[in-house]
Amino acid sequence: MKRLKTLEINGFKSFQKKTVLDFQVPIVCIVGPNGSGKSNVVEAVRFVLGEQSMKSMRGKQGADLIFKGSKNLPKSSRAYVSIYFNNSDKVFKLPDEEGKNASLGYDTVSISREVYPDGVNKYILNGGEARLKDVNSLLSSVNIGSSGHHIISQGEADRILSVNPKERKEMVEDALGLKIYQYKIRETERKLERTGENMKEVAMLRKENAPHLRFLQKQMEKAEKARDMRVELLSLYKEYLKKESAYLEKESGELTAEKRRISSELEVLRKKIAGTEEKNISEEENMKELGALERRSAELRKAKGELERKLGRLEGILEMEKERAKTAGESRVLSPEAAEEAIREIDFLLEEADGLETLSEIRAVLERMRSVMDDLRRQSGPEQKPDDGKMEELEKSRKEISEEIEKMAEEEEEAANKAEELRKENREKLEKLREAEKERFGLRMKEQELSSALELLSVREENLVREKGDFENEIREGAPLVGQEIMSYKHSSADGEDGREYREEMRKKIERIKIKLEDAGAGGAEIEKEFKEATERDQFLEKEMEDLSESIKSLEALMADLKNKIDLEFKEGIKKINAEFQKFFELMFGGGTASLKVVVENRNKNRRNAEEEEEEIAEEEEESEPEQGIEISVSLPHKKVRELHALSGGERSLTSIALLFAMSQVNPPPFLILDETDAALDEANSRKYGDMLEKLSSRSQLIVVTHNRETMSRAGILYGVTIGGDGGSKLLSVKFDEAVAIAK
Ligand code: ATP
Repeated sequence: MKRLKTLEINGFKSFQKKTVLDFQVPIVCIVGPNGSGKSNVVEAVRFVLGEQSMKSMRGKQGADLIFKGSKNLPKSSRAYVSIYFNNSDKVFKLPDEEGKNASLGYDTVSISREVYPDGVNKYILNGGEARLKDVNSLLSSVNIGSSGHHIISQGEADRILSVNPKERKEMVEDALGLKIYQYKIRETERKLERTGENMKEVAMLRKENAPHLRFLQKQMEKAEKARDMRVELLSLYKEYLKKESAYLEKESGELTAEKRRISSELEVLRKKIAGTEEKNISEEENMKELGALERRSAELRKAKGELERKLGRLEGILEMEKERAKTAGESRVLSPEAAEEAIREIDFLLEEADGLETLSEIRAVLERMRSVMDDLRRQSGPEQKPDDGKMEELEKSRKEISEEIEKMAEEEEEAANKAEELRKENREKLEKLREAEKERFGLRMKEQELSSALELLSVREENLVREKGDFENEIREGAPLVGQEIMSYKHSSADGEDGREYREEMRKKIERIKIKLEDAGAGGAEIEKEFKEATERDQFLEKEMEDLSESIKSLEALMADLKNKIDLEFKEGIKKINAEFQKFFELMFGGGTASLKVVVENRNKNRRNAEEEEEEIAEEEEESEPEQGIEISVSLPHKKVRELHALSGGERSLTSIALLFAMSQVNPPPFLILDETDAALDEANSRKYGDMLEKLSSRSQLIVVTHNRETMSRAGILYGVTIGGDGGSKLLSVKFDEAVAIAK
């Protein structure tokens, strides 16, 4: 199949007018005088295929590629070249959006490139603007490498011989279609590098985040602990408040009942005490009566005494009167002895009377004193004759007084009896009083007790009020910590009866947790959110890290794969090239041997001083892979020459052509352009060259720029290029003879 169809040149270099070349035959020759623009045609092909090197198109900048005008022709506004390929077999491929190669549906693929004076380039694929990358991948799908090994410019054939082994290797690799793998390797390397950088970045981000994450982690742990503590606190609260409220209710009930009981008891008691005090008053009345009686007795005694003394005197007088009646007229003198005797007697009686108690005793003493007195009177006074009337009167008085005394004595006795009775009564009363006193004392004691108990109750009441206050406080303080559930502490009658100590213990526990909670601080929800975000971020980064290291692994695997592939295909390719090289060489020289040899380049050929070398070694180790190159070894028939530089110009030319042709046969490109590769050949070698062209043309279309008649004779189409009087190149299809004429 003739892959290459046509080439259109417009405003490119010397081609001012639109010029169309048709390539529907195996060999197309372009002939023309020097400077007519033949090489510009070759460069137009390079250009449209995406050549980036200005040098290889003999220009410095984009503008140099645009027809710059002549005496009679205006300069072009742009250079525009299009190339058309047959794609009826749909072999052209382009990577789709997912990067997979997809066949292009057009039967004809057209690629165009424009360049403007400002250097701006435009690529167009089948009418649509495209990227250079697309052009490259499209071409690589038909073995047209971007390095352009399929275009051998004037004087370039020799290049494959003159370059160094490393460069030669690159040319061979390109011919073998390995460039695409190398691009891939380079791309993979870049990806690896980017991935490594990303990993570093991610690792750094994680490292940066780590302290904050740790901090949040700790906060979270604290918050979790706080949550646990709150749960514990709530259950403690419920238990405690239940017990406490049970206690408070019980205590309050007890206090009320106790108070009522004691108060009523106290009331009864106080009434009793008041009752005992009334009895006291009645006793006093009794005492008054007794006093009155005693006073009356004393009065009676006094009055009776006076009466008795009166009676005594009266009786004495009566006695004396009686005596006087007996001894009337007699005078008597009292002897001193008798007087002294009488005084002593009276003194004695007085002394005796002093110790007496009872009335009768006193009376007896008084009687004896009276007789003493009577004796004295009798012994001293003159005797008179008693008057009978007077005697009677005296007798009457004596009787009256005696009766009075008698009466008084009776009354006295009565009073004495009454007093005795009263005293007895009083004694009994006193006894009763003492008992009552005792009872009252007892009652007072009891009252005291009850009052104290009451006081104690009020202390307990105060305590209860305080405890109730504490209880409510506890709820107020607890609610913000554990929520409203704190109110669900309701106790049942079955609860309670836990000692104060137990409740106190619980309260202490609660207190301890509250302090811990205060320490733990607030902000649970916020921290949780932040922690979640930070963790998710970290996990995301971790996942990213894993992904990155995964992709590094797969990139490295891909790399190894690619290197392997290159290695393999390179070795295979070298073998194939060598086989072809040998054939072409033999064909050219009628014998001899030629082959390519892969060598490892010693990059330290030019030894520097030792110090530098050490540094170099370190650098080399990093680069690790030794650089390979390709050397050519030839042996001409019947000659000993083996060194390339010792070959003649023609020999060099033939050798390089043989090698280039051999290279092109491994992965034959759809077309080969040879720009005066045959310039150095003599007639005999020109024929051999022509034979080779024909051989080659079975697999690749050939576009040959030549002055060689032998070469021209092998062409299917001959184009003559001339430079007109207007300064623009002209192209015309010519016959062989015309061509021979034009070429001269
Ligand atoms: P030879 O056979 O000697 O190699 P050739 O036929 O290959 O010659 P080219 O080298 O292709 O000729 O053409 C060179 C000619 O193209 C020169 O005359 C040059 O002035 C002309 N040329 C190059 N660039 C431009 C341009 N931008 N505008 C006009 N003419 C140009």
